[in-house]
Amino acid sequence: MVLSKPSFEQGPIRPPNEANSLLLRLTRNCPWNRCLFCPVYKTKDFSRRSMEEVKADVHHIAEDKEKIKEISRQEGYGGEINRAVVARVHAGFPELLPVAFWQYHGGETVFLQDGDSLQLPADQVAEILVLLKEKFPEISRITTYARSRTILRRSVEELKTLQQAGLDRIHVGMESGSDQVLAFMKKGVTGAQHLEAGQRVKEAGLSLSEYVLLGLGGQGMWRDHAQETAKVLNGIDPHFIRFRTLAIHSNTPLAEEVRKGNFKPLHDDEVIREQALLIDNIEGITSYIYSDHILNLLEEINGRLPEEKPRLKNTLDSYLNLPNRKRELFRLGRRAGYFRTLADMDNPSLKTAVESIYQEVKSGGYSIDDYIKQLLRRFI
Ligand code: SF4
Repeated sequence: MVLSKPSFEQGPIRPPNEANSLLLRLTRNCPWNRCLFCPVYKTKDFSRRSMEEVKADVHHIAEDKEKIKEISRQEGYGGEINRAVVARVHAGFPELLPVAFWQYHGGETVFLQDGDSLQLPADQVAEILVLLKEKFPEISRITTYARSRTILRRSVEELKTLQQAGLDRIHVGMESGSDQVLAFMKKGVTGAQHLEAGQRVKEAGLSLSEYVLLGLGGQGMWRDHAQETAKVLNGIDPHFIRFRTLAIHSNTPLAEEVRKGNFKPLHDDEVIREQALLIDNIEGITSYIYSDHILNLLEEINGRLPEEKPRLKNTLDSYLNLPNRKRELFRLGRRAGYFRTLADMDNPSLKTAVESIYQEVKSGGYSIDDYIKQLLRRFI
């Protein structure tokens, strides 16, 4: 089958929890594009899309929705978008697939792309939000990425305008609250600016998701990374804290820093020690913590603060207190896709499967660390 392009433009990334959302592109790529660790837009220039282009996309999406309903009626499903209709679209009308998939998942959530939508004037973003709500009254949540520096160029009043027009949540790539780490990584923002931007988003009545990149301090700055990030999070009290774990892509400036010996990455166990210190330093906030990314070693670090902090800390300590071989076994099982939680190591069939890979790797003369690195390449 020859894949046709969708009738509207889409960018490359979205947060994992927006996997079922409609992706509507307001800008292309990232206006900063200098973070050492970030591979996403490195070879691409930033541009703002015109209002006419974005509005035309909204109209195309509405037309696609009607075409899909018609296909459903022709297939005898009375306009319902079910699996069979999605399969029919996939086979015969691939250009309609993004909208069919969105409709199949309820058609209620939208993510505005790319890396920093608030680059557009607030009144323009508001106009798009209103149009979206007009065309699709069933929409219940619209979210976007924005950089802290860009948020600081918007007043609370402007952010409130966006909230009233239909924006629900801003996802901010905080990565770290440590000025040392932020400067080294060329993030172009300070901890104080992250703090002020986060507080401003909340003051405007918007929901806020802050992304923290575990491992970003490396061997030299891990303590500062953990402690200063916790400090900034304590000052913001975001609705969500989402952990990610650093993966060093070969085509990033950070890979070059590693080659030159200027950045020494953390081992998995050290990342967990850093995460434990960070959570230890979190005080007085009510955020919900998520570890919803495949690269996080312990994806069970999910829970509401403050009541679940002891459980989260316990889980991290339990991992750190495991004997060396058991930690290796868990890491191997997690990276090979067998284990999701520490408790999975008590499942006899999963344990036997991972033990057998472990023995095979060892008897082949390989190190478990090297084997795990190979496994991780699938996700980078
Ligand atoms: S601001 Fe975000 S998208 Fe832009 S380079 Fe940095 S991490 Fe990548």
